[in-house]
Amino acid sequence: MNGLEIDNVSLSFGGLKAVDGLSFSVEPGSVFTIIGPNGAGKSTVFNLICRIYDPSQGDIRFNGKSLRKAKSHEVINHGIARTFQNIELFEHASLLDNLLIGRIRHGKFGPLSELFFTRSQMRQELAHRRKAEEIIEFLDLEGYRHARVADLPYGVRKKTEMARALVSEPKILLLDEPSSGLTSEETDDTAFVIEDIREVLGVTVVMIEHDMKLVNKVSDMVLAINEGRFLASGSASEVQSDPDVQAAYLGG
Ligand code: ADP
Ligand code: MG
Repeated sequence: MNGLEIDNVSLSFGGLKAVDGLSFSVEPGSVFTIIGPNGAGKSTVFNLICRIYDPSQGDIRFNGKSLRKAKSHEVINHGIARTFQNIELFEHASLLDNLLIGRIRHGKFGPLSELFFTRSQMRQELAHRRKAEEIIEFLDLEGYRHARVADLPYGVRKKTEMARALVSEPKILLLDEPSSGLTSEETDDTAFVIEDIREVLGVTVVMIEHDMKLVNKVSDMVLAINEGRFLASGSASEVQSDPDVQAAYLGG
């Protein structure tokens, strides 16, 4: 099958089942949203997809290929990129440098490779620079290109993290709470950005999100989980009206 498949995956931390027999699949070209109360296991699902954690059971496949044997730094080569719930950038480097560091994660360059650049590597390097500039323009970040990340407003830093993920030219982008910490105006902008990522760049989006206005605006499919388990899936309105979902949010 094409797309991302999570197949009966579990992971415990000590006695706590953070993800418990969870299955779902994401259609290529869609925006797929995971909702659920704090501690439901949402970020852990991303960490499992990105091979930060090894599931105790189950499999994760992307375009039919199992990721079980992949190292976390190889996930990007499968076409999967992500942002983090708490921004993870090189704070003292410029925005542009953060995007160029992203290309090293692409896996085409080893640690010593800068010393042994071949002609084809030079071409690749140039192509990556061009890609970085293209993404900067795509996300309206031109004015901040040379600014130090630590000096940027929070909303711009969030966008920079998205840019860094996009420079690796992923097929699928995982966004962990893209609206958290943003103003409602910035959240509206994020909705347009997500739509453009899907429509202009053709990238499938999987997002974890709490802001239901954003969820309603951009999601093709919503999955609700609680205590690591499936609660409901369907359209945003179907999932929000599900009694199990409502009970989970009331702490029931
Ligand atoms: P969510 O993103 O839905 O808020 P998380 O996936 O971050 O939830 O966490 C799910 C559960 O697993 C929580 O109870 C959390 O405390 C626990 N957890 C997450 N990561 C770890 C870890 N590295 N070690 C121990 N417990 C963890
Ligand atoms: Mg989380």
